[in-house]
Amino acid sequence: MAETNPTLDGTPENAPGLDGAFLRTQGVSKSFHGRPVLKEADFAIGSGEIAVLVGKSGSGKSTLLRVIAGLEEPDAGDIHLAGQAVVQGGEYQGAWKDLHGQIGMIFQSYTLWPHMNVLDNLTIAPRLTLGESRAQLLERAEKALTEVGMAQHLRSRCTQLSGGERQRVAIARALMMRPRLLLCDEITSALDPPVAAEVLGVLTKLKEEEGIACVIVTHDMAFASKAADRICFFEDGLIKEDVPPEHAFNDPQTPGLRAFIDAIRF
Ligand code: ADP
Ligand code: MG
Repeated sequence: MAETNPTLDGTPENAPGLDGAFLRTQGVSKSFHGRPVLKEADFAIGSGEIAVLVGKSGSGKSTLLRVIAGLEEPDAGDIHLAGQAVVQGGEYQGAWKDLHGQIGMIFQSYTLWPHMNVLDNLTIAPRLTLGESRAQLLERAEKALTEVGMAQHLRSRCTQLSGGERQRVAIARALMMRPRLLLCDEITSALDPPVAAEVLGVLTKLKEEEGIACVIVTHDMAFASKAADRICFFEDGLIKEDVPPEHAFNDPQTPGLRAFIDAIRF
């Protein structure tokens, strides 16, 4: 594990008392059918940071994201979010209910409702949970779509959109809940490289303009080298190396990351 990341610097929206990390997992473990998949995984990210998770298939990246998102209950470990303990000793705490809305997650396969138009896809969850008026939600949907460069598609049917457009709508839909942390699990794996670059570029903009923290699982090493603040190398259920991209690419410290970088070098 590398030394503490200097960019977790305690800006106002970062959590106090946790070295400024907005999210921190400590000793998070998870087994499936008796087989450990996460083994006391430690991870942290500050507001306005992009962390790219890399590692072989099956190393536990998606499981960590799913645990952070509350889609999978950990067996053990602590999670702090915005300065509050939301999981302690593997148990969700009361604070989780208040804070989980700060986390948005986007997946590889398009999870939009195909029979609804873009506006309805964006507003259905907030309409059910936030109790805001149609006018407020329309305004917010327009803003979210503008952020991802899709404002002209407010009334488009999702079936008419290309893969890249759908993923930008999926990001806009996550933005409707005003997340401070976005978890992106291989969201561009099904897209052509130039389209993938555009979609990932949206995340860089959100980080820079809104201070949203992004944890991104991707095989797009061009993006990782350009846009990541940190590369977190996952192996065997935990993060073995957590370093800025230039270190990851030029001076990997662990044999696993060295082999991974050699394998993708072109
Ligand atoms: P990665 O995203 O790095 O490819 P995953 O976190 O998806 O890895 O999976 C790690 C391991 O856990 C894999 O062997 C996978 O089959 C297993 N796994 C993940 N989710 C489940 C589940 N819900 N039930 C059983 N096994 C699972
Ligand atoms: Mg995965």
